[in-house]
Amino acid sequence: MAPNVDPYNRKITYLRVSVIDRCNLRCIYCQPVKDLKLLDHADILSYEEILKVIQVATDLGIRKVRLTGGEPLLRRNLLHLVESVCRIPQIEDVSITTNAVLLEEMARPLFEAGIRRINVSLDTLNPLKYAKMTGRECFDAVMRGLQTAEAVGFSPIKVNVVAIRGLNDDELARFADLSVQKSYHIRFIEYMPIGRDSAWAPEKYISSDEIRSKLEALGPLLQVQRSFHDGPAERYRFESAKGEIGFITPLSHHFCPSCNRLRLTADGRLRPCLLADEEVDIKTPLRNGCNQEDLKRVFQEAIARKPKQHHAEILERGECIRPMSTIGG
Ligand code: SAM
Repeated sequence: MAPNVDPYNRKITYLRVSVIDRCNLRCIYCQPVKDLKLLDHADILSYEEILKVIQVATDLGIRKVRLTGGEPLLRRNLLHLVESVCRIPQIEDVSITTNAVLLEEMARPLFEAGIRRINVSLDTLNPLKYAKMTGRECFDAVMRGLQTAEAVGFSPIKVNVVAIRGLNDDELARFADLSVQKSYHIRFIEYMPIGRDSAWAPEKYISSDEIRSKLEALGPLLQVQRSFHDGPAERYRFESAKGEIGFITPLSHHFCPSCNRLRLTADGRLRPCLLADEEVDIKTPLRNGCNQEDLKRVFQEAIARKPKQHHAEILERGECIRPMSTIGG
C-alpha cells in the first residue's frame, strides 16, 4: 500500500498547517469567550520544525499545503515560511486562509512569495454586525484587504461564510449579489460544533440545502464543473455572475469518504480528523532529534489513525473539544 493511503483507502495528499494559535479577532463561533489558554511561544513549532514536517509529508505524497491559524498573518516573518514552502518542488499548491485584517499590506508580498490562492473569512457585509461577530471593528480593513488581493492578482479569491441562524442568514441575497459583481467564490460553510465552550447549538445551524433553496429563489443556480484544486465544495454560479457560490456541508452531507487531509496544529500535533480530538504528537520526536525515517513513521501513524468518518451530527456536539482557533480550520 502507498505510504499515504489510510485504512479506508483514502489517499492523503493535503496538509493544513496552523502556524499560530493567536488571532486578532474574537469570532463568537470560533474562540471560547472565557479562559482561552494561549500556547507558550516555546511550544509553538518554529519555521524550521514546520518545514521538516512538510518535507517528511511531501516525501510521503503530500502535494498541497494550506497555511492557517489562529490568524497566520500575525506570525512574524511569515513570508520566510511561505517562500520556503513554495520552493519545495513536490508541492503543487500552496494557499492561505486569513481573516484579511492585515491583508492590505500583506497581499503583494504573499503573492510575490509564491501564493496564488487565498481564502478570506468574512461572515457579514454589515460593518456593525461584523464588529458584533468578531469583537473588533475591522470591517473596512478587511474590505481593503480583499480589494488589494484582487488588484494584486490572487485567483481565485474564496470568501468563507459560516452561516448562523439569527445572525447572518438575512444576508444571503447580499452575498449572492457580491458573487455576481465580483469574481469571488462565496462559500457557505455549515456551522460546526467545535470546541467545548463554543456557542454552537442545533437551532443556530442552517443546512446548505436550506441556503441553496433560499438562493435559488433569487435566480437559477448553474452547476460549475469541479477542478483539481477543489476541496469538498459544491460549486454553482448565478447566470452572468463574475464569481461563484459554493456549499461546504460537513454536517448535512459529510464528505469523509473523500477526505484527503491531515492537520498540523501550531503546537506540533498531527490531527487526523478536524472533528475528532485524537492527535499524534510530532513535536516531541522533532525536538528529540529523530531522523527523517522516524518522523515518517510518526506521520504514517497519523494517516493510519484517520477515522472512517467523524461523529458530529446536526443534533450532537460530537467529539471535538479543542477550540477551532487552536486547530486551524
Ligand atoms: N484566522 C483565519 C481565518 O479567519 O480565516 C484562519 C483560521 S479560522 C479558524 C479558519 C476558518 O474556520 C474560518 O473560515 C472560520 O470561519 C472557520 N470556522 C471557525 N469556527 C468554525 C465553526 N464552528 N464552524 C464552521 N467554520 C468555522
